[in-house]
Amino acid sequence: MAHPNDRDETRLIRAGQGAGPAAKTVGPAVQKGSTVLLPDAASLYADKGQLTYGRQGLSAQFALSAALAELEHATQVTLYPSGLAAVTGALLAVLKAGDEVLVTDTIYKPTRRFCDHVLKRFGVTTRYFDPRQPPEALVGEASDATRLILMESPGSLGFEMQDVARVAALARDRGILSMADNTWAAGYLCKPLDHGVDISVQALTKYVAGHSDVFMGSAAVRDARLGQALEDGIHDLGWAVAGDEAYQVLRGLRTLPTRMARQGESGLAVAAWLRDRPQVVRVLHPALPGAPGHDLWKRDYTGACGLFAFSLTPGPEAAVNAFLDELQLFGLGFSWGGFESLAIACDPQLKVRKFRPDYGGPLIRLHIGLEDPDDLIADLARGLAVYAAHQG
Ligand SMILES: *Cc1c(COP(=O)(O)O)cnc(C)c1O
Repeated sequence: MAHPNDRDETRLIRAGQGAGPAAKTVGPAVQKGSTVLLPDAASLYADKGQLTYGRQGLSAQFALSAALAELEHATQVTLYPSGLAAVTGALLAVLKAGDEVLVTDTIYKPTRRFCDHVLKRFGVTTRYFDPRQPPEALVGEASDATRLILMESPGSLGFEMQDVARVAALARDRGILSMADNTWAAGYLCKPLDHGVDISVQALTKYVAGHSDVFMGSAAVRDARLGQALEDGIHDLGWAVAGDEAYQVLRGLRTLPTRMARQGESGLAVAAWLRDRPQVVRVLHPALPGAPGHDLWKRDYTGACGLFAFSLTPGPEAAVNAFLDELQLFGLGFSWGGFESLAIACDPQLKVRKFRPDYGGPLIRLHIGLEDPDDLIADLARGLAVYAAHQG
């Protein structure tokens, strides 16, 4: 408190601080602060674990972490400034020079770049595996240096499913950590920690935030030592997320189940329609009966999101571009999980893969949004007609 005779310059520094308690609102308070004021001198250097600086997160970040822990059936959730930062941050927190990681060949491409560039530079070896390989063979190939197995099921281009539970169990028997990038299921349709996975990461940027306008990622764990390692990792690297953005992601979480139900249902309707088109070779959607990985999806998932792929009958790149350019309701752009439909051609991204299945023709990925599915189907029908006309 300023003294009564202090001048304006002094009084304005603390003016308004004593205003009454905040009202209780539906959403959390959004605190903004780097400095955290401590009650007395003894608290400045008190025990570890006490909140002493805003980078550790404030009210909105804590509210989001707690809500995500409920979603993921976790005891601890750490937040990162992007989905990619969640994957790289979790890896950096548990790996050391000399370690080896086994990474699915279908991993999100920027994660692969991190492994090939940064991990390599710090003396960590990455070995890519084919996710269609049986779990016994995969874990059997692990060496004494193998510290972690990173999965992503389904893969976000070819939608390959992996028996994540079996891999996690076999890895644990050998003292190897398991980690899953669970962005497709958003911690909602499948909960990796319930299947024995040690670290469940996801890009909250996608379905949880849900509006294509904010970056964030999370890592969820049950083991207290792992949780401490993740938290130390964040502090060591100096990463923080903003209170406003944590608030925004938490707001998205409230409607996640409703959006997922609608987008999953619409996605399946579009997928089933595509399956019967003459210009379509194959639909890669694990929730579609008869599609690859359907049995694993049925065992481990409670639903589907709106992201899947299909392959066209063979045609030149110009025909694929003509198909995409004909679409009016599908934006052409990367990322997914928002309320809007999107489409991309996948083939350029598949070039880095070691184990590339033959999809029978150009691979297209669709993200189905909240539009009316019949309108989306009509849009795709116009696109496929143009594709056929360009095939010659
Ligand atoms: C988008 C995505 C990421 C990265 O998330 P950002 O927030 O964009 O950094 C990681 N993994 C998967 C599977 C993704 O789709």
